[in-house]
Amino acid sequence: MTEPYQLTAWEAAQALQNRSLSSSELISSVLRRIGEVEPKVHAFQVVIADKAKEMAKEIDDRRARGDSLHPWAGVPIAVKDNFCLKDAPCTCSSRILENFNPPYHATVVQKMLDAGLIPIGKTNLDEFAMGSSTENSAFGMTRNPWDLDRVPGGSSGGSAASIIADETVLSIGSDTGGSIRQPAAFCSITGMKPTYGRVSRYGLVAFASSLDQIGPMTKDVRDAAGLLQIIAGHDPHDSTSIAQPVPDYLTELTGDVRGLKIGIPKEYSIEGMNPEIEKNWREAALFYEGQGAECVEISLPHTEYAIAVYYMIGTAEASSNLARYDGVVYGRRAEGPFENIVDMYRKSRSEGFGSEVKRRIMLGTYVLSAGYFDAYYRRAQRVRTLIKNDFEAAFKTVDVVLCPATPSPPFKAGEKTDDPLEMYLSDVFTAPLNLAGLPGIVIPGGFSSEGLPIGIQLIGPALSESRLFNVAHRFQMETDIHKRRPTL
Ligand code: GLN
Repeated sequence: MTEPYQLTAWEAAQALQNRSLSSSELISSVLRRIGEVEPKVHAFQVVIADKAKEMAKEIDDRRARGDSLHPWAGVPIAVKDNFCLKDAPCTCSSRILENFNPPYHATVVQKMLDAGLIPIGKTNLDEFAMGSSTENSAFGMTRNPWDLDRVPGGSSGGSAASIIADETVLSIGSDTGGSIRQPAAFCSITGMKPTYGRVSRYGLVAFASSLDQIGPMTKDVRDAAGLLQIIAGHDPHDSTSIAQPVPDYLTELTGDVRGLKIGIPKEYSIEGMNPEIEKNWREAALFYEGQGAECVEISLPHTEYAIAVYYMIGTAEASSNLARYDGVVYGRRAEGPFENIVDMYRKSRSEGFGSEVKRRIMLGTYVLSAGYFDAYYRRAQRVRTLIKNDFEAAFKTVDVVLCPATPSPPFKAGEKTDDPLEMYLSDVFTAPLNLAGLPGIVIPGGFSSEGLPIGIQLIGPALSESRLFNVAHRFQMETDIHKRRPTL
């Protein structure tokens, strides 16, 4: 028998609307599931049980009264712990924000609440979203539900794990260099990073402001389309948000890929890529050819510089964004006595930040410092433009690009913690899109011979989310990979 917690948002919405399920039952089922598996997975920083039950009851009452509600009203959503959700903790997995309860809702949170979605908890992440494994969390790592000895990816590892472990129906994450898509691949869920500016960043704790973007992390493409529809749109609080109408992603989800031209970037066949990932990628291309699309080889010549550029621009922006945590205006203050104010800053920041965050602040400060600015930061910005131009040229001849999500399946916990550069290489297929501001979607593509998830990624031109959903949906219409669940 299907338990309510196993439903997709789409399915749950149908059941809620035809009254075969109440929101209270759905929330109770999800909370029960959390109680069962959370000790193994640790996807959540905090579970918001009482408030969620209260909200569910309210939705049920309103539905009974015949109020007009969003079709998804009453569905639970897990929120990454770097979004401001009023009256709940927002730690960013950092000691420095241990006691921070935001006084306002992020725009996306407000939009979710307006649609009647119910926040069920805040999910674990790498500290300030810096990492690819959630091992950088100050409050303990999240485990990959497919193999508890492995990482779920990062930084939105908690959101991804909560979905595949059926601890929530929907979840949401942020992606600066791959933080939605890489964990989506590692946990075998659907994750989209929309076009830069498609979703407001207001109330998302900033990591690298020119790269950060919020997106859905869900059980399938249809849910991702529906969730993006709820959260997307222009916001006067975020001047980088795009003032374009939001399409009806669900109505446009036909799954028709006939005549579509798919680019296969030759530079993505990198040295050291796991052969099973390469094989899965080729099989995905064959799948689409079988569905009436045409695959052609394309070139994205500046791909090899993306990681270096990402780690210069990303750290530069992070060093500036994180300057606000001084123990005075923002962030936890160390215990005194202090010799002077500089001593107070130093002690608060030394205690409050973990080692990866410190590394990024130092790298970023270095690339921005007088004497090195031109050689590193300015040059990185120039190469960023070349990477963007590569994609623009490619999209003159193809509709979407198909490539792997990650160079390997999920790795073992501890395997890369001593080697930051190795860890950074996890982002080789995801970071280029953030640099170019383009949308990308990752869906479950298959499993390795060891039974570990492998993701495939589709990239499109700016504001082509509808097209990406459509192409990804085709795959899920014809296969059941996204329906498989780990035994926990
Ligand atoms: N793994 C990348 C990093 O460590 C990306 C993080 C992200 O997208 N937030 O920076």
